[in-house]
Amino acid sequence: MAPRTLKPFFVVLGLMAATSLALALTVDVNLVDQPGVKVLFPSQLGRWNGDAIVFCQNKDCGAQFYSSEITNAVVCPKCGGKLSGLSKVEADLLPPDTEGIKERYRSPDGHTVMTSIVLSGKERASIHRPETCLRGQGSDITGSQILDVPITGRQGPLKVKVLLLTHERAGPGGTKESYGTYYAYWFAGKGRETPQHWQRMIWMATDRIFHSVAHRWAYIAISGVRTKDGNEYQSEVREVIGLLYPQIVLK
Ligand SMILES: [Zn+2]
Repeated sequence: MAPRTLKPFFVVLGLMAATSLALALTVDVNLVDQPGVKVLFPSQLGRWNGDAIVFCQNKDCGAQFYSSEITNAVVCPKCGGKLSGLSKVEADLLPPDTEGIKERYRSPDGHTVMTSIVLSGKERASIHRPETCLRGQGSDITGSQILDVPITGRQGPLKVKVLLLTHERAGPGGTKESYGTYYAYWFAGKGRETPQHWQRMIWMATDRIFHSVAHRWAYIAISGVRTKDGNEYQSEVREVIGLLYPQIVLK
């Protein structure tokens, strides 16, 4: 790895050490309870039709539903368990006061994007690098980039991180075939926006040390299918985030 790419990590390490010291000396940190985004997805985003996804929290059931399929969005029709916007696995991994929702959007021309918002609660450790969750059986991150998304009314474009993923699945006759998806995200605190995990870590540290505040951070993600070599996904990301951003970001 080039020294240049390691630099943010050393900065973070230094700040973490400084934070520990500062916390040891001053315990008075105001928790900012006001988040930077609303935890909601509009049912309509331009030409995109939304449908919320909810998950049964009973570990023996594990069913998931689109809200259009069920009449009561809080009780599982299969087992009577509680339904939530976070899957049971996610809910078990995250602190109990973490909020999360997911929505599927479909366009008339047959495209589908999945969106999610996760908002940290009082325990600030609830949001981590999405990269750690995306690698898995038959899936790999094969590229990443920072994409400018123009937003009406925002000073300058929003920068989002886009991960390009390649997946393998069984093809005809016992062969394997691969296909591509993208996963775009950014982090938002009150008055703070960044696509970079290390930038968020630095802000978390400096806000605590110099301003005595701790924000409720949110992370907003959208994902969809891409062709393996094309970059049409970029216009999809720009369209959906361009429509979503003004509806959820709190000024
Ligand atoms: Zn259930």
